[in-house]
Amino acid sequence: MLETHLVAPGSRVDLAGSPTRANDFHDDREAAEREFRDLRDELADLQHALYAESKRKVLVVLQAMDAGGKDSTIRKVFKGVNPQGVRVTSFKVPSSEELAHDFLWRIHKAAPRTGMIGVFNRSHYEDVLVVRVDRIVPEEVWRPRYDMINDFEQLLAANGTTVLKFFLHISRDEQKERFQDRLDRPEKHWKFSRGDLDKRQQWHDYMAAYEDALSRCSTAVAPWWVIPADQKWYRNLTIARVLVGTMRKMEIRFPTPEDGLEDVTID
Ligand code: ATP
Ligand code: MG
Repeated sequence: MLETHLVAPGSRVDLAGSPTRANDFHDDREAAEREFRDLRDELADLQHALYAESKRKVLVVLQAMDAGGKDSTIRKVFKGVNPQGVRVTSFKVPSSEELAHDFLWRIHKAAPRTGMIGVFNRSHYEDVLVVRVDRIVPEEVWRPRYDMINDFEQLLAANGTTVLKFFLHISRDEQKERFQDRLDRPEKHWKFSRGDLDKRQQWHDYMAAYEDALSRCSTAVAPWWVIPADQKWYRNLTIARVLVGTMRKMEIRFPTPEDGLEDVTID
């Protein structure tokens, strides 16, 4: 099950040929929502154990086109997890201080410490996505970044970080509907920005940039999944399955208690 939607290391991603809908994978929304709620409870327990064990870390990277559902994924999947054990970082346009450093500087600082789940809402991948599409730096600067990213993620993995990366794959039609919904509902206006429409015009360039990033940077220690994300219930279920399935395999243990606790009396 963990392999469904996984980008096998070394394989070439074709996004136009990758489903954005659940149709071929699941047809029972209610059952999916039940399973999702169970997985979410289990995630809270696993995170508790990770925090107690305090030896390893988990990093979840989320990337998507605008309105792809990064925010709502975070809200739904991590609901119920102790806030002390999860840290979400949203990466925006770099500040002048961030731009004065290498592109991984701000990312490395936000990497999770032991016992923590770190969630990246956007990430270092922006530096081979928007930066490439908008030609913010020349090709000779962004091109070597795929290897730098792989080396960086290898470093995190070698230091006890389990890295999981999800591309929330929505169709261009679904994005249109979600933008329209943001325009139609006053309480959602704050989520709409005209700049998002410019990126929509560059859809094909973005898909090409994503295909390169997903193909070149899905590795054994830091794999990518391409999640069909038009339907939120399937998106949530799939991400929870991968996250919980992976954390189960980590065999997280509570630390061994001090000796002789059974003889301790408290006056
Ligand atoms: P929302 O879904 O709420 O709109 P968002 O993640 O799109 O959330 P925004 O503040 O709208 O947040 O946008 C952040 C912007 O920062 C994005 O357009 C993204 O491409 C841009 N960005 C992130 N990292 C970089 C980077 N390294 N270089 C240039 N732009 C970046
Ligand atoms: Mg935005």
